Amino acid sequence: MTSVSRRTLLKLFAGASTCAVCGNVHANRLSYDLAATEIASGTWAVHGKTEYFTLENGGNIVNVAFVEVPDGVVVIDTGPSKRYGEALAALIEKTLPGKPVLRVYNTHHHPDHFLGNQGFDRAVLATSQGVIDNIAAEGDGFTDNMYRLVGDWMRGTSSVAPGKALEAASEDIGGRRFSLSYLNGHTSADLVIRDDETGVVFTGDLAFLNRAPTTPHADIQAWQTSLAQLDQMDRELFLPGHGKIDKSNESLQQTSDYLDWLSSTIKQAASRGYTMNEAMSTAIPARFASLDVVDQEYQRSVVHLYLQMEDELMPIIEPK
Ligand SMILES: [Zn+2]
Repeated sequence: MTSVSRRTLLKLFAGASTCAVCGNVHANRLSYDLAATEIASGTWAVHGKTEYFTLENGGNIVNVAFVEVPDGVVVIDTGPSKRYGEALAALIEKTLPGKPVLRVYNTHHHPDHFLGNQGFDRAVLATSQGVIDNIAAEGDGFTDNMYRLVGDWMRGTSSVAPGKALEAASEDIGGRRFSLSYLNGHTSADLVIRDDETGVVFTGDLAFLNRAPTTPHADIQAWQTSLAQLDQMDRELFLPGHGKIDKSNESLQQTSDYLDWLSSTIKQAASRGYTMNEAMSTAIPARFASLDVVDQEYQRSVVHLYLQMEDELMPIIEPK
């Protein structure tokens, strides 16, 4: 993928919380208080808030998970900061005392999913080459921006890319087989992990449930294709990247429906020659009104997608 400037990344991830100087107000209670919920046999989810990054939540807006396998533990995503990664490692040790972490997967390169990598031994970190490349290109910019958004929570955090690039369709970790699907659409590289024993599928941010999807690196057509592939998977349940577990295909349908609406709305606005501000004032349909942070995410999506759509609909014609 093309490298994106730090300035662009700052814009993409700029959010509601701009009070960088208030960081110290919260310095006395920088504890994530993570809790594990058993969502399937030997499988725990650690659910984040369905919010945007704030000084209050410290970036804990993401779902991560860990799985007990015969010889150890497998972890899916590591949260938004070194502090979170260390808290997650401590929670795993408390839940499964003495069991070594044998594998940590990163589903994609967004900051809430991999900036906790420092909490784990680098030798066990793994993901696809595409995710590794994306972290190399954009990880430092994300880290800078997270310091700006959540302040002190980030102390000591730096961008650490996994050293192991996966390409196999499955791998055996500690006596358990995991299937790996190399999809894209939410970003240019989205790794989906399926536990072949329990049938739990960890979708990363290809699926959201009751929380508006984020689109800073989205290719909506590719994303829709990936959602259709997820729907074909033999599974017991999905753990979306954000939101509660999904035992049907509600998260896939909701994400697909929202993306359809988003792309057609922005395309229509661009083809009518609306300004970006006019596009932003479009009313959110009632069926999406209850999605968490939908107003903010819609506005951010207009910023991400509007110029892209304008270029598609109105190509620059060079004078002869
Ligand atoms: Zn993401």
